[in-house]
Amino acid sequence: MEVANIFRHLLLHNEAFVQNAEATKFLAYATHQNPYITMLTCADSRVQGDILGKDIFNKVFIIRNAGNQFAVNRGSIEYALFVLNTPVMLVLGHTDCGAVKFATHACITQSKEVVNLAKSFDNLMQTDYSSLSREIKSEMLPLAIPIERGIPDLRKIQNEMKELAYLSQINVDYQIEKALKYYGDRVKENKLTIIGGIYDFVGAYSKQLGRVLITNINGVINPIDIQDSARKIVKRMPNYDEKSEGYKIVGKLIDEKVTRITV
Ligand SMILES: [Zn+2]
Repeated sequence: MEVANIFRHLLLHNEAFVQNAEATKFLAYATHQNPYITMLTCADSRVQGDILGKDIFNKVFIIRNAGNQFAVNRGSIEYALFVLNTPVMLVLGHTDCGAVKFATHACITQSKEVVNLAKSFDNLMQTDYSSLSREIKSEMLPLAIPIERGIPDLRKIQNEMKELAYLSQINVDYQIEKALKYYGDRVKENKLTIIGGIYDFVGAYSKQLGRVLITNINGVINPIDIQDSARKIVKRMPNYDEKSEGYKIVGKLIDEKVTRITV
């Protein structure tokens, strides 16, 4: 798209937004905010906050970097958790993540043994990352730590789209592991719940494109145990016993969405 067109869009789209916006909503939160979710996600343009709802104004404190890495923005995360006191932290990875691809490429090219394990990455192996700046590389290379953990499992998957989703899952687990190292006490005291997920817009988990799959709750990653944790959380809702209509609706969503790619 031409710069002139981009600039024109910027002005026009914001004007349309102003026309549709509710001034009262802005005025009510002109001097403070009270979001309930801290979301650490990837900067990828295909990942946007509206996957959590049409209007997330004052609800979601969003922190983004390549590969949804905890260490890159720890200060912003702690501002949201300790100053704004959000009770939930969502670490959201996604399918076809460029940062995960970069780290996977780095891992595979550095180990001959690994090359044999990951033959299905033919397309990825043809990508040339050599011209990337030192800054880009140094921000994304820490992802090689979690990716290296996941690579030996890939031969059990044998589908590039799913393999990359699996590695994104492992990355989310790793970022949550790091968060728990610092905020584990808060989690134990029930002041914070850390949820991990993968936003799937390629169909790695199901045919439903756009689903957010919940793959980790407070470090729990066994699929049966995550579902169990999810049900326990939902049952905290008043009037949500197993027979209630509300529980049945959410329970069905838990069956469909609280799941992982396992090997
Ligand atoms: Zn990404």
